Amino acid sequence: MQNCQDRFAEVAASDRFNFIGNVKIGKDISLASLKPHYDAILFAYGASKDKSLHIPGEDLRGVYSARAFVGWYNGLPEYADLSPDLEAGSRAVVIGNGNVALDVARILLSSLEELRKTDIAEHALEALSRNKVKNVTVLGRRGPMQVCVSYQILSSPRANTIEAAFTIKEIRELLSLPDVAFDFENPDLIPGNDYIRKLPKLEQRRFRLAQLLQKGSTASNTAEKSWTLASLASPKQFTESRDNPGSINGLQLASTHYKDDSTRFELSASVESTGETRDLPCSLAFRSIGYKSTALPGLMSDLGVPFDERAGIIPNDLYGRVLATTGGPGELGAMHINGCYCAGWVKRGPTGVIASTMDDAFNTADIIVKDWQDKVLFLNGTSSGAGKTAQGWDSLSKEQETKKAGLRRVSWEDWCRIDGIEKQRGREEGRERVKFRRVQDMLNVLT
Ligand code: NAP
Repeated sequence: MQNCQDRFAEVAASDRFNFIGNVKIGKDISLASLKPHYDAILFAYGASKDKSLHIPGEDLRGVYSARAFVGWYNGLPEYADLSPDLEAGSRAVVIGNGNVALDVARILLSSLEELRKTDIAEHALEALSRNKVKNVTVLGRRGPMQVCVSYQILSSPRANTIEAAFTIKEIRELLSLPDVAFDFENPDLIPGNDYIRKLPKLEQRRFRLAQLLQKGSTASNTAEKSWTLASLASPKQFTESRDNPGSINGLQLASTHYKDDSTRFELSASVESTGETRDLPCSLAFRSIGYKSTALPGLMSDLGVPFDERAGIIPNDLYGRVLATTGGPGELGAMHINGCYCAGWVKRGPTGVIASTMDDAFNTADIIVKDWQDKVLFLNGTSSGAGKTAQGWDSLSKEQETKKAGLRRVSWEDWCRIDGIEKQRGREEGRERVKFRRVQDMLNVLT
């Protein structure tokens, strides 16, 4: 994270860089009004929604989106009012077993002293001081060998990649929480050393990650708090409490088994229902089954850029050039839309860790430079050969300011000021930083 921030600050120091914050594209400024002022637009806006389970009871009190919970404890103004009921009971379940699920489990089980050392939002810290959760079940519909995935950084856009669900850092963090025991429901779903030694190198790393789970946590089994990794169970419905109508008191699970048991250690092994169900009592549930990107307003109408709703990405050629097709990445014969590029989750889907997303961004940046050098046409018919380039924010802002009073752009200097004040407030409290809860509070310190 620190590396990421440093890199960003390094880029921002360039006099050819212009940061414009607090501007919603499609609301404050349309894509149509951006277009005449830029030679190229790179879409790197990530995934702003999360996937739903579409099972009965998902609307009951006590069922939360993990994305919203993560936003809430990280101090995102959008989720400032979530107020998860952490006092409802001692058992929580996290549905899904990716890195987000591990993050949620770690926050629910960490001690207040540990959390205070981080930059977790003040309101979350206050609510977590009353947290009654003692056991967290992380639930996978498949097994540990389908989530313990080693990570290969993309060396070229078409390199064979293996995506991460669990990554080693996240598992280590959770297993080394003091006074938090670990209960591995299905250790037989991880193979022994003899099996692992015969595997290719990349695969071996994936299995070592799984062996970490087998080793378990350092905490004693009698520790006050614990987490359980449950496999081969798919959520069927949330059940409603009789004593507390409108709130959950459990989750009914449909048991699953491998369609072909000999594939149980394979990454892509698939499962099916056994027809049996079981009940998991819980007073808190977090839906953590992945994120999805959405289309920016005006993408198609203003720029002719399609959005693949099924895959949740902007169709592209995997190098980052936006394609005029809805058929998904790499479709043959699809045309590059001049001057339009994408990177990150909106290009590849919500997978991978920070390092892979950075690598993906570098690939797209390289391709923009290459297209410019090759005199490929950009937005508005500009090219490096034509000599005339668009004037960017300077000309756009003149136009916008006459149209829209009250548009308060946040510059890089403003951003640094907000950052500095948060850190200062942190020093006063003996913390890394104390974050502003609302956007308006941030803007107030700039006036
Ligand atoms: P994810 O990695 O895509 O994991 C989603 C999990 O939900 C999978 O285990 C999937 O199981 C399960 N799932 C999907 N649909 C389901 C359903 N209907 N019922 C039950 N289970 C279901 O998503 P994520 O954890 O939200 O993470 C999103 C991205 O952020 C990932 O790339 C992650 O690595 C990244 N991230 C990284 C960090 C970090 O680097 N520290 C931290 C947080 C997030 P199947 O495998 O069976 O489909």
